Amino acid sequence: MTNLYLKRGKEESLRRFHPWVFSGAIHHIEGDIEEGSLVRVLTSDGQFVAVGQWQIGSIAVRVLTFSDVAIDDAYWASRLAAALEVRKSIGVAGQEDNDTYRLVHGEGDNLPGLIIDMYGRTAVMQAHSVGMHLCRLEIARALKQVMGDMLDNVYYKSETTLPYKAGLEQENGFLLGNTADNVATENGLKFHIDWLKGQKTGFFVDQRDNRSLLEHYSKGRSVLNMFCYTGGFSVYAMRGGARLVHSVDSSAKAVDLVNANIALNFPGDTRHAAYADDAFKYLDKMGDQYDLIILDPPAFAKHKDALRNALKGYTRINYKAFEKIQPGGILFTFSCSQAVNKDQFRMAVFTAAAQAKRKVRILHQLHQPADHPINIYHPEGEYLKGLVLYVE
Ligand code: SAH
Repeated sequence: MTNLYLKRGKEESLRRFHPWVFSGAIHHIEGDIEEGSLVRVLTSDGQFVAVGQWQIGSIAVRVLTFSDVAIDDAYWASRLAAALEVRKSIGVAGQEDNDTYRLVHGEGDNLPGLIIDMYGRTAVMQAHSVGMHLCRLEIARALKQVMGDMLDNVYYKSETTLPYKAGLEQENGFLLGNTADNVATENGLKFHIDWLKGQKTGFFVDQRDNRSLLEHYSKGRSVLNMFCYTGGFSVYAMRGGARLVHSVDSSAKAVDLVNANIALNFPGDTRHAAYADDAFKYLDKMGDQYDLIILDPPAFAKHKDALRNALKGYTRINYKAFEKIQPGGILFTFSCSQAVNKDQFRMAVFTAAAQAKRKVRILHQLHQPADHPINIYHPEGEYLKGLVLYVE
């Protein structure tokens, strides 16, 4: 394994288990190295600090372990087994009414750069680093070993998540098994998961708990699910007894997906309709018929530089919802931008409420679920935040 020497004192954050080495902290690397290879990270005087995968860019190493151990089949199996144990103890894995959950959440599971979502008996695996990409076959093998008869298929979906400059020209495809059966169960509801063409791994697993909460607020309400994608919130609202549910997304493909998922759970139910439209246009032209609105937009800020515009975007969209929502209405509003923190998001929503001159109470403050854990040493892992608001 190649040795990487840090500049003097640059081991400090690693000693506190932060899992990244920034390129500026590196003194030198012994010999030639290729992107994705393993490195032993050493202090300036040669003391062991960590083993990680080297990559080109500002984050130069993602740490796999702070112990001086081999990265072999046993390593992958033990990390995956630990991840599964967490999912069992929080009650999302090994359940009869739920087989949809995130098994590996990158740094949150001490596996930086790796995402694995479970949909029934299929794992969808996504590498965000060349290092994880190079290990994909070992990881798939260890996954089968750990999951045993809970798993038949591993679909690898990294075409759009691997660094473009690495030029890997990776194609998506099955690493283990093969299936066309893409129906998974979340809290007793069925969903078609489009891992072939869908966004992320095919489904937004991270909204499961928030969708459950929404179900409890849906009875007798007129619901608008804006940015609906596969219609997760819509299906829960239907089960919760909503009077009507309208799902809106700018993508026609999403509208097909939500219609298919409604048909799967509530065939022939006329309470639901879906529309392909732009959020800002729809909110402008719609009437005041809704008393439960969900706003779950895509990340408005992908980077820190986009922060100001992102906050304006959140204010604008929430303002439109406040303007139109019925008195006594409930607004579920989210941000999944990692670059926008909780306080900044709340301030953006506060501004919108004040501009619309509505009286607003915060009922719940929402976040990502327990199967998207945040490594306490890596606060950057916190990204999803939401507010449930009562609008007088
Ligand atoms: N709420 C969803 C996830 C939303 S992802 C769930 O629980 O699964 C964000 C969605 O917003 C995507 O489906 C994308 O197509 C849609 N979108 C992006 N820009 C939009 C716009 N301007 N108007 C409407 N929808 C938009």
